[in-house]
Formats: sequence, C-alpha cells, structure tokens
Amino acid sequence: MSRILKFLILQACIFLLPFTAAASPGRFETDSIRTSDGLLQITFLGHASLKMDFRGRHIYIDPCTAVADFSEMPKADIILFTHEHSDHFDLKAIEELSGENTLVVVTEICAAKYAEGMVMKNEDVKIVLGLRIEGVPAYNIVHKRASGFPYHLKGMGNGYIITFGDTRVYIAGDTEKIPEMNELSDIDIAFLPVALPDAMTVEMAADAVKVIKPKIFYPYRYGDTDISELRELLKGQSETEIRVRNMK
Ligand code: ZN
Repeated sequence: MSRILKFLILQACIFLLPFTAAASPGRFETDSIRTSDGLLQITFLGHASLKMDFRGRHIYIDPCTAVADFSEMPKADIILFTHEHSDHFDLKAIEELSGENTLVVVTEICAAKYAEGMVMKNEDVKIVLGLRIEGVPAYNIVHKRASGFPYHLKGMGNGYIITFGDTRVYIAGDTEKIPEMNELSDIDIAFLPVALPDAMTVEMAADAVKVIKPKIFYPYRYGDTDISELRELLKGQSETEIRVRNMK
C-alpha cells in the first residue's frame, strides 16, 4: 500500500463527526419487524450505529462511542464494522461491548488495528450464529477529496446483508449508488447513507431505492443533511416505505 494511500485512510472522515456526548440507552428509538423466525428489533443509536436484537442475540453495526455509552448496553454476540473510518470503527466500543463469545467482523484494514476480528471482504458469505451475513461493495464513484482520491475506495469497505428468518436487511456502509446495487435481490429493509461530502446525495439515495426496491428504506448517517426531498423524489415508489428515525 502506498504511503499516500495510508495517509488518506488515516485521515478518515473525522471532520464528519458532529457528535454530542453519549446519552443513556433509553433515549433511542426502536422498531420491531416481524420475520418468519420471530421479531427483529432495530435500535437507532445515531450516525451509522445500529443495534439489532433477534432471538436473544445482540448484533451491533458500526458501534461508535461518540453516539452511545455501550457500557450500559448488552454485550454483543456479533459486531460488524463496515470500514475503518473513526465514525464507524471504534476500538473503545469493541472493548465496552465484548463478552466471552463476541464475534467481531472487520475489513482487512480494520484488522490491522484489531487482529482478533474475522475478516470479511466484498462477496464473502458467512453463517454466524445461524445468521447469513453477506459482504457487498461500498465505495465512491463521484465524491472525492480535494486530492482527487475517493473518500471510500472500492474493495476497502463492506456493506452487509443480514438475513433474519425470511427478512433480508441491507446496511450499505459508506457508499454512493453503485452498479452492484442493481444486482441486489429480495431486500426487505435498506439502510442507505445520505450525507455529503462522502456518501449519497438525496438524488443518489432515491436512485438506489428505485433499483433495490426495499419494503422499508431507512436513511441513515444523515447528520444535518436535509433529507425532506426524499419523499418527493420517491413518490412513485409505492412498494417502499420511507422511515426516518433519529440518527443524529
Ligand atoms: Zn467513511
């Protein structure tokens, strides 16, 4: 890996951290989704951090201590990290959430800082605690740093599709609308990052929803982005419900 590449990766997206202090778990919204194998509960922790509870298992996606105090939450059975940027990958969160049997899924770059993790790449499929987890690409095509380098390089980050019973949940990670989304099938719930400068514009997110056709679309990682236009852009997309939860 070139020195400039390492430098850019370390730069991460620290400037994208408009976080306030963590608060108690009670403040977070939770949705309950009925699956063929019981209820899936999704808790919206903020920014890109999500908690999913299913059949007594606790799954955390991109837990970040800037948005939540994980020491007050149940230990993780599985933690999934989409990529190495500091608003997604947080060693302190791993420490707070790790129990005896916690499995941490990481990318190759995250593994350089957390060797105990199980590495997944784009296209990898793993069965973990009975859950099917697929790694899918997540990257920028249009949005680049002033240096001309993409914020997220193809192959470095993962989106994940997790199958709970008959319900397939797609967590896109930091990505734009990319051609690989055309190949995704049977997605019931999609989390797509709507935020500039390094993820989707509202138009990109609407285009992604039109090809993915989820039953529920949750914009996430949106911070101060005005996402009100999404409903207008998707008014013809009758099979998709747009759900906005507090992810600030
Ligand atoms: Zn990022």
